[in-house]
Amino acid sequence: MSSPTAPRISRTKTDTVAEAPVPLNDVKRQYETLGEQINAAIRRVAASGRYVFGPCTAAFEGAFADYCGTRHCVGLANGTDALEIALRAVGCGPGDDVVTTPNSGMYATAAILAAGARPVLADIEPQQMTMAPASLAAVLGTRVKAVIVTHLYGRLADMDRISAVTRGTRIALIEDCAQAHGAERGNRKAGSFGAIGCFSFYPTKNLGALGDGGAIVTNDHGLAEAARELAQYGWRSKYRAVRPGGRNSRLDEIQAAVLTLKLAHLDGWNAKRRDIVRRYSAALGAAAMLLPKSGDDAAHLCVLRSKNRAELREHLARDGIENEVHYPIPDHRQPALQSVFAGAPALPHAERAADEVLTIPCFPELTDGEVERVCESLARFSERERQR
Ligand SMILES: *Cc1c(COP(=O)(O)O)cnc(C)c1O
Repeated sequence: MSSPTAPRISRTKTDTVAEAPVPLNDVKRQYETLGEQINAAIRRVAASGRYVFGPCTAAFEGAFADYCGTRHCVGLANGTDALEIALRAVGCGPGDDVVTTPNSGMYATAAILAAGARPVLADIEPQQMTMAPASLAAVLGTRVKAVIVTHLYGRLADMDRISAVTRGTRIALIEDCAQAHGAERGNRKAGSFGAIGCFSFYPTKNLGALGDGGAIVTNDHGLAEAARELAQYGWRSKYRAVRPGGRNSRLDEIQAAVLTLKLAHLDGWNAKRRDIVRRYSAALGAAAMLLPKSGDDAAHLCVLRSKNRAELREHLARDGIENEVHYPIPDHRQPALQSVFAGAPALPHAERAADEVLTIPCFPELTDGEVERVCESLARFSERERQR
């Protein structure tokens, strides 16, 4: 209540306190919601004296295999290791070609090169932005031993049509699920469609550790064993190396304990991500910007497309909304890879996507108010676009 003696507060435009920006991601908020449980899990591991190869890793591997609907899970140090170990497990090495897409952040290409194989690029579906089955069919040659399909932004690639292309061949289908934990189609989860599914638990992923982590999942006992051997110096038994290409790559006990705890929340968090995408979608109306289908994907990133991306970025920045491009440089245009892809055919859909995609904030701990601010900003931009 105002009283005559209360000091007069003048509210002019310049007095308005600038609101904090809406962050693209803020992993600290997830720690804050689970803080005590996470602290307790870390203390238990620390006090146990088992820091690697202990019960927490075994428990997480079991729980994550169950979650993905696969028989086996092998914990690894990170997602890039998972891709490389998957390639080596299916027998890829020097002299082999592996097909992947150029718009997926270069992770698969890096793993293919690390395994000693040659990356071959297929183009993407223009809207869905995952591997185009027809383009895969066009690049399949006799040297192709595997295909890495990335479920980009949390959207499941068209695994039915992609499997149809490789059916009857000995080509191994490897899924890069680092952005698609829990994405599901017809009751099948990402990672359960191909020979091996590869995951990263990098902190910003849908299921994120407090540091690095990764895993492969598979229904094939032989591939799971091969991955375990490759992740431990090629040993089949202690100090007896039977498998070439081995090294050390492990998920540690603290990360496994944290991941087991977080796994129970994954479906709820994914539902929140999809809900945020739905709200953005409604705010955009019929704007010519494409949002992920909000059905059953994991909505890892909310990616818009605009021919006026530079303007859109400026508009969002003025409204204090962080944004980022995933990814600005297609693999075949990376300066470090010029010799690898010399003479590669044009990949028009991937090249166009690199110029148009824009990621806006989408993570489960965004507040209602923050989502609303993004919605208002998007609505203003799309109104302006309509009036052009
Ligand atoms: C994050 C990511 C990776 C790599 O995972 P790291 O754990 O960082 O090695 C691989 N593929 C995709 C699609 C990713 O998003």
